[in-house]
Amino acid sequence: MEQLTSEIQQRVQKLSQQLHLASYAYYVLDAPIIEDAIYDQLYRELQQLETDYPQLITPDSPTQRVGEKPATQFTSVRHNIPLYSLENAFNTEELKAWDGRWKKVLKTEDKEINYSEPLYICELKIDGSALALTYENGILVRGTTRGDGVTGEEITQNVKTIRSIPLRLKLESPPSIVEVRGEAFLSLNIFAKINQERQQKDESLFANPRNAAAGTLRQLDSRIVRSRQLDFFAYTVHLEGEEINLKTQWDCLELLQEMGFKVNPNRQLCHSLTEVQNYFEDWDSRRQNLSYMTDGVVVKINPLSLQEQLGFTQKFPRWAIALKYPAEEAPTKLLAVTVQVGRTGALTPVAELEPLQLAGTTVQRATLHNSDRIAELDLHIGDTVIVRKAGEIIPEVVRNLPELRPTNAQPFQMPTHCPECGQAVVKPQTEAVTRCINTSCPAILRGSLIHWCSRDAVDINGVGEKLVQQLVERKLISSVADLYELTVEKLTQLERIGEKSATKIVNAVTESKTQPWARVLYGLGIRHVGSVNAELLTQKFLTVEQLADSTPADIEGVYGIGTEIAFSVEEWFKVPANQALIERLKQQGLNLASQPSPESSLSQKQDLNLSGKTFVLTGTLPNLKRDEAKKLIQNAGGKVTGSVSSKTDYVVVGEDAGSKLKKAQELEILQLSEAELLELLEKPA
Ligand code: NAD
Repeated sequence: MEQLTSEIQQRVQKLSQQLHLASYAYYVLDAPIIEDAIYDQLYRELQQLETDYPQLITPDSPTQRVGEKPATQFTSVRHNIPLYSLENAFNTEELKAWDGRWKKVLKTEDKEINYSEPLYICELKIDGSALALTYENGILVRGTTRGDGVTGEEITQNVKTIRSIPLRLKLESPPSIVEVRGEAFLSLNIFAKINQERQQKDESLFANPRNAAAGTLRQLDSRIVRSRQLDFFAYTVHLEGEEINLKTQWDCLELLQEMGFKVNPNRQLCHSLTEVQNYFEDWDSRRQNLSYMTDGVVVKINPLSLQEQLGFTQKFPRWAIALKYPAEEAPTKLLAVTVQVGRTGALTPVAELEPLQLAGTTVQRATLHNSDRIAELDLHIGDTVIVRKAGEIIPEVVRNLPELRPTNAQPFQMPTHCPECGQAVVKPQTEAVTRCINTSCPAILRGSLIHWCSRDAVDINGVGEKLVQQLVERKLISSVADLYELTVEKLTQLERIGEKSATKIVNAVTESKTQPWARVLYGLGIRHVGSVNAELLTQKFLTVEQLADSTPADIEGVYGIGTEIAFSVEEWFKVPANQALIERLKQQGLNLASQPSPESSLSQKQDLNLSGKTFVLTGTLPNLKRDEAKKLIQNAGGKVTGSVSSKTDYVVVGEDAGSKLKKAQELEILQLSEAELLELLEKPA
């Protein structure tokens, strides 16, 4: 472990301050200032530092208390049994560690536990606000918030407005005192409605359904509470007075249901941690269809006898743990910023981060997009930044927490020279991007080669980043065309390339010569010409000469192609080096013209049932995109024009059709739906 430095002391102090502030905003004001996942992560960092340096723990540290002190408008009530928080686990290892811990407390060896009875019960963790309800002789007498876990606020009047909370228990002879705990929550629909209304009234919006539920419970006016339609799932029951034979948490839930409470139906008994893990994974997607928010799974030891033996730590029950779904946003430290140069010469700053777990993966780098973004974030090396990763999206830095900045941290500045070739970079005032404009910059060359070989371009299998890096470094290649002059002898000079793989590469390169003109055009990497645009352009310009000789106006005439693309294509063909590249590729035998495919001539013959017919498309079709519909009509011999006139034969009408439909109605032109168009296309000529 590192020696205790003033930097660490300062970090602990700053974390403490930030967490106190966040906690107050969250619990007392019901208006969080940071996201839960960020709070959790900062909290864990503080916890770790306090474990490593126990001398830094102060009695008022945020790690030393359960919740926030209750607000003062309501009467404070001491809970008979504290309302503890739950320990969190964010991955399987932490779940296993908890399992090991409770077994150790019981001094029980794994094999001694009776596995024939389900040991665990999994419940969904409802993201709402905890409530404690007291029933005396079956009648609801008190409802309290959790508060700091020891003392809560009495909100009985408000609790009585929640329709899923029985005012009288449905038991013949109820025990003298029954304490029920559960989660008050708002359905997502109602939450959205509340925020909509608040927006209309210019009131501040609730950050999430949980805060809205907590805020609602603590409303002084119970009429407002009633109007908000809170709901409630019960999950714990304590009985006093009469003996009811409860053996397990499962029994408790059944009893709660009998008493007239709503109990979440998605509970499950599990025999092993593998079953727990399966439940957790299964609900990760299923929970998206629920009408309320959940943020994890609460795993509890099912037999109450074991729960009793285990008891509580200062803050948590030892017999339960909240297994949380991975966060998509979390804070981490910015260690450095590196700058990458892409195939268009664009400089992309990349944040090098202290590794963190996000959405189930380890993240160490995140994009910072461009210099404007850096300025907006006011980035200093050492800053605590918030990183987001959702699904397949590239991780990005979304926010900065300058309050946690270390003293003497230096701001990051974009380089004035290309980190790859050393030439001065340019940043047009109208663009956010800084660019290297040296056409022989090795980074640009590498990027172009990788793009050329990519799947949607000419798809050369086996030529990846590592090989390209070597080819460029050894100066074996200085243009895409050089790829076609690679030989087995040249390739075997490279590291870890034997004769067999060299032959494979040479064959794959040769094979790529059969790729169609559209893919070749895409592979050239002309700015704004993606694979779809390349397809559109090659339908109109059947040869590279036709495209090179066209004017921007000709190019813009292609349906779906705009001015930006037209100018970019024109500029590209003006550059002598690009003209030379085209010449070489032509000599090497690449397809720079459309080859009439046997398939298309066959379909032309068969489908010419729309010959001579003119169509106009209007509105959004349910399935087909506009250019797909256009292509189908054209393949069948029809013509598609942009405006309705007496010469139009059919108008194909989709949703939100506008003036063209009106015109068609006026001129009494036949209207078709997408389905009718498809039917027409199917008919023999
Ligand atoms: P918690 O919400 O992580 O877990 C405990 C709570 O889970 C219980 O009190 C109970 O209300 C609830 N729960 C839901 N379903 C349950 C079930 N089936 N069985 C048992 N309990 C169930 O812990 P907490 O102490 O209430 O709150 C801490 C969390 O609050 C933190 O992890 C953080 O995410 C959030 N927080 C956020 C901020 C912020 O600034 N954003 C500040 C403070 C706290």
